[in-house]
Amino acid sequence: MRSEEQKIIYLQDYKPSDYLIPKTEMWVDFTPERTRITTDLHIERQVGVEDGTPLELDGEHLELVSIAIGDEVLGAGQYELSESGLKLLDPPQSFVLSTVVDVEPEKNKSLEGLYRSSGNWCTQCEAEGFRRITYFLDRPDVMSVFTVKMVADKDLAPVLLSNGNPVDSGEMSNNRHFAEWHDPHPKPSYLFAMVAGKLDKISENFTTKSGKKVDLNIYAEPGKAELCRYAMDALIRSMKWDEERFGCEYDLDVFNIVAVSDFNAGAMENKGLNIFNDKYVLADPATATDQDYALIERIIAHEYFHNYTGNRVTCRDWFQLCLKEGLTVFRDQEFSSDERFRDVERIDDVKGLRQSQFVEDSGPLAHPPRPNQYEQIDNFYTTTVYEKGAEVVRMLMTLLGKETFHEGVDLYLERHDGEAATIEQFIKCFEDVSKRDLSQFQKWYTQAGRPQVSYTTAYDAESKQFTLELKQTVPATPGESEKSPMVLPIKFGLVSNNGDDLGWDSVEGAEVRDDLIIMDKEDVTVQFHGVSSAPVVSLFREFSAPVTIQTKASLEEDLHRARLDGDPFNRWESLQSAILNIVSPSMAVDGPALDLDLLDQVASALSQTLDSQDMSPSFKALSLRLPNYQDYAQRVGENINPDHIKSIKRDVDRAIAERLRGQLVSLYSALHLPDEYEPNAEQSGMRSLRNQSLSLLAALNDKQIFEMVETHYNEAQNMTDRQAALAIMCAYAPDRAEPLLAHFKENFAEPMTVFDKWLSLNASIDDDRTIDRIHSLMADDRFSLETPNRVYALFGSFTQGNPTQFAREDGAGFDLIADIIMHIDKFNPQVAGRFAVAFRIWKNFESKRQNAARTALERIRDMENISPNLSEMVNKTLE
Ligand code: ZN
Repeated sequence: MRSEEQKIIYLQDYKPSDYLIPKTEMWVDFTPERTRITTDLHIERQVGVEDGTPLELDGEHLELVSIAIGDEVLGAGQYELSESGLKLLDPPQSFVLSTVVDVEPEKNKSLEGLYRSSGNWCTQCEAEGFRRITYFLDRPDVMSVFTVKMVADKDLAPVLLSNGNPVDSGEMSNNRHFAEWHDPHPKPSYLFAMVAGKLDKISENFTTKSGKKVDLNIYAEPGKAELCRYAMDALIRSMKWDEERFGCEYDLDVFNIVAVSDFNAGAMENKGLNIFNDKYVLADPATATDQDYALIERIIAHEYFHNYTGNRVTCRDWFQLCLKEGLTVFRDQEFSSDERFRDVERIDDVKGLRQSQFVEDSGPLAHPPRPNQYEQIDNFYTTTVYEKGAEVVRMLMTLLGKETFHEGVDLYLERHDGEAATIEQFIKCFEDVSKRDLSQFQKWYTQAGRPQVSYTTAYDAESKQFTLELKQTVPATPGESEKSPMVLPIKFGLVSNNGDDLGWDSVEGAEVRDDLIIMDKEDVTVQFHGVSSAPVVSLFREFSAPVTIQTKASLEEDLHRARLDGDPFNRWESLQSAILNIVSPSMAVDGPALDLDLLDQVASALSQTLDSQDMSPSFKALSLRLPNYQDYAQRVGENINPDHIKSIKRDVDRAIAERLRGQLVSLYSALHLPDEYEPNAEQSGMRSLRNQSLSLLAALNDKQIFEMVETHYNEAQNMTDRQAALAIMCAYAPDRAEPLLAHFKENFAEPMTVFDKWLSLNASIDDDRTIDRIHSLMADDRFSLETPNRVYALFGSFTQGNPTQFAREDGAGFDLIADIIMHIDKFNPQVAGRFAVAFRIWKNFESKRQNAARTALERIRDMENISPNLSEMVNKTLE
């Protein structure tokens, strides 16, 4: 039941804290039974706050052992304890509060606060986990200088780490030892971290641009340190890149990363002590795919980049989450683009955005990058905050130009260094450097939903005039019916017959700068004078704004762009949309039969791309990835029958594969890779092209091709190829996949990262046995619902990668996931809440499936003792 005390928190209610804690000293004593935490908080009342104003410290699951102000032990009457904290009734103006609390990390399965992973102690404090470690003002605008002394048994925990710099360590009696850490940078409690345990490490060092030497260490569970080499390499490249591109120089003597195997999210940017889910650190060619390597590089960079965007300048309150996350995702995207192939990275990022953020935006959980209300902040670590947040920063760069944009970021980092800032303050910096009014632009942060853009074009040969009419509308989202027009930076080109961009003599109707139209009204008519021939317009090049274009281009126009557009993004995009445009009438359950002949021209454009000398293998590989299930489903929008979509997709894939068979086979056989595996962009592009060729060929459902896939598996020299072969077989020939999966488990699945791949592959199989298969996988000794990586591997792959089984007509898929969510909610509400997003598409299905999903959702909603996290998610989804 929805609990009565469920509180909604509003942005407009923000009030600075009455008290601050400029200094915090902690003594932490780890023993197997419990951890004792002694804390001295140096507290000061803010100027202007009345005498006698009580101080409410956050604290949860803490056992208070003692409490004192200075030397005076406090008695009843001076403070009040509750489930959520400790209230000092009449604190002095300036004082030291000493508390001693006990916590029980052994029993903590929520993976928030202090918990144990493979026997080691570690912490996760963002967003509100620090209150499970000690009493504190656990909010991001209260920043403190922390000193932490950790004590533990030398054998149980030879490694003792916290934030900042190591300042002291030594031996103690009873086989115990200690380490003291001091972090000179004031930080909010969510950036606090400790790790104590048995860990191996690899070390390097980095000399910053001003000549300061920094010790770098990556720690992992015993025996796994050598698997951290690539992460270390990515870290060093990140540090260098951040100096060169953003002028950000590392600011402590050491930078530590610890990889743990139980972690709710991907990784965490604690000051000087990043803690990682180990799947985003550990890699070697035998266990990690090219994609894994790329993700490791990304996430290592992301957390490192937070040192400035997040840590040096943090968030005033959790509504501002995208201030650090959107900006930092933008930075990690730029890093990958500079390190790899920019065009390909951009296409990949946009694919990801459409697959998750667009879906969120069109459903019951839509919200702006900066929401103005929430119940549980844990539920707002969303793709809208992260990925759309990054798109908004990218639009700023597009709008202002790269140089001015960087001046704005420089100003932001300088002006707000050491502060907790807001979106308004961030935007103000760009206004100050550009002298541009960005108030309308700011709507991107505060208005949910995605503009739908339509356009018409006309060319008058006589007057050499080209007219482009643009229109935007923003559809209503839950709780927001009135929308106003957004500022759309539209990168564009007028593509001529031979593919060159046409110029013009003059233009009117909108602000147009070089290849950029700035559209800030609902309707805009742009007149270009002096255009020498009729162009095909190419809009939103590089995906310059996160919109959906509603106008259906003609096949001719799509193919013209697919062949000749100077912008690789639109070249890729046009081929995809040509296919979707051809198929979409048939996607409705009662739509006309698919006319496969229309695909001839698409196939020949694709063939031309594959033959081209100018295009990289990775671009070709992306082109070969024909629209996937989600792309089709988004086109259909509502009344979805996944079986129907899937069968149409199969027909399309097969039709194209038939037309390209010879070319695909020769691509597959002719591409030769160097003997030595390197996870770099060049090689991974080549592998991807081979694997995509094979994958499309598999759509032919031909015995000969399946034998090629088997050979590919058997001869694979690395995990990328091996996993690709398995995925193809799981997708196209489940019966042939079975023995390969068994072989894979037997021979390769020893490391947990590979075991997880095996789980995912199993759960992706689209046949009626999959639910039973999942039940037997759950019985495997190595499976545990308490480890998020196992859960994501098995059930994430099922809900995301197996739409026909998840959304079975009989509801068995929904029921399975509801059961799992309810089970996990009892000990890990964060993961339960996040997993509930699987249901956000439920209203898009046809009525039978909708009803089945509703029943499952209502069952969750009505469960006893539902957590506030899960309750918020399920109620919003049902609304
Ligand atoms: Zn982040």
